[in-house]
Amino acid sequence: MINMRMKIKSLCPECLGVIDAEIEEKNNKIIIKKTCKEHGGFEDLYYGDAKIFNRFLKDKYDNSGLENPNTHKKKGCPYDCGLCNNHKSPTVLGIIDVTNRCNQKCPVCFANAEACGYVYEPTIKQLKKMLHNLINEKPVPCRAVMFSGGEPTMRKDLPYIIRMAKQMGFIKIFIATNGINISKDPNYIAVLKEAGLDVVYLQFDGITEKPYHTIRGFNALPIKLKVIENCRKINFNQVILVPTLIGGVNDKEVGEIVKFAVKNSDVVVTVNFQPLSFAGRVDEKDLKKMRITQSDLMHLLEEQLKGQIGPDDFYSVPSLIPLSLFFERLQNKQITKFSCHPACGSATYIYIDDRKIIPITRFVDIDSFFNLIKQINNDKEKNRYVWKIKAMSKIIKEIPKLVDKTKMPKSINMIKLAINFLKGDENALAVFYEKSILIGAMHFMDGYNFDCQRVQRCVVHYSTLDDRIIPFCSYNAIHRTIVEKKFSKPLNIKSKNKEDRNFK
Ligand code: SF4
Ligand code: SF4
Repeated sequence: MINMRMKIKSLCPECLGVIDAEIEEKNNKIIIKKTCKEHGGFEDLYYGDAKIFNRFLKDKYDNSGLENPNTHKKKGCPYDCGLCNNHKSPTVLGIIDVTNRCNQKCPVCFANAEACGYVYEPTIKQLKKMLHNLINEKPVPCRAVMFSGGEPTMRKDLPYIIRMAKQMGFIKIFIATNGINISKDPNYIAVLKEAGLDVVYLQFDGITEKPYHTIRGFNALPIKLKVIENCRKINFNQVILVPTLIGGVNDKEVGEIVKFAVKNSDVVVTVNFQPLSFAGRVDEKDLKKMRITQSDLMHLLEEQLKGQIGPDDFYSVPSLIPLSLFFERLQNKQITKFSCHPACGSATYIYIDDRKIIPITRFVDIDSFFNLIKQINNDKEKNRYVWKIKAMSKIIKEIPKLVDKTKMPKSINMIKLAINFLKGDENALAVFYEKSILIGAMHFMDGYNFDCQRVQRCVVHYSTLDDRIIPFCSYNAIHRTIVEKKFSKPLNIKSKNKEDRNFK
């Protein structure tokens, strides 16, 4: 049975040219189909559960792009990045590759120095410029940055780079790491924390040896456990576990990964599953076997956690837009909005009550809550102060009706939550954070499932050496090799940059 059908623009996975594609609903799955004149037809799974996809699709939101775009519409999306004047979302998280050197040789990785045969490593001056390009975005500056690679801890001057970003005004600083260097030296994480590091975004593929052997080429599990231990020792409690999710490799471990996070919730704040995106062309059999989508993950979690979390607990990332609009009006200024495409990311909060998992959706009527906020946002009242009073009284009156106190974990302080919320504190829900974990997923795209409407709304952007800001999925599918080759040195020549060698 075929229901929904939509025309989109995609890429040919072979030549990376932009081609027409269709996504259509078939047997409660969303399938993408396309034909390249030169390389033939391609079919892939776009989203594993059409019901969830259709529920999420209503959250699609067109944000305003940048007031100061770096490029303009010329060759067409995604070749005009960027960000170009056609892009629909400013940067929520900026990514900067500080090196392509790595101390791991993952069979699935195509980006490390040894595999590419060149070293890509921006100087301090270049990094400063790239940070500046992010924080200079208008109307909303990007204030969250992730240093990535390669392996960012390969740079001895990483603490200096983190300190520099903090001094420039970044309020959330992440490193994306395999954890090897943090596991080796318990003092290292203390040095990074002291420099201003906020979050460790830790590669974490499972809780058994098997997925590490397949994905990383060796058993990296002891390293991950040591990282958790070292973070705990110094009270560093902002670790995000990042499993690369691959069908047939670690899809049987997703429930155990969540249980591991719950057990270590004094250190772990989030699990962010990343279904594998393919680099280059793969054979059809592998594509079918390894392709896994966000809705597949939701069903697997339901099955493996015996219904403690299920698809209905998940919401699309842009479902939060009404809340952002509410805070914008309350604070009378533009704020960062998670306006990516609904098919890009999803999440739920789980609350830990005596080691039991209770998703927030089981005791708060989230749909009615968002509807209430939308009603308040739609109030045409011109006087902001009058609107504020009306909004407050509505919230005080209506919110208690949306909470099922019999199911609510006892330690939640609803009064503190309501007060913070009404004060316009965007982190009001932090009262849940103390004993909760965010379970999220972001499905990065590849040549097979690429969708230009998604990338045009992307909120995760690389800041690059040629002064561009490039959406993550378009950078990895198209622009990475071109940019890196332009600014790299042959592998056998050591960096001659004095600044890089001098900083500790
Ligand atoms: S992905 Fe965004 S920045 Fe890149 S070409 Fe498309 S609209 Fe422009
Ligand atoms: S990085 Fe890719 S998956 Fe994530 S928001 Fe951007 S386009 Fe969507």
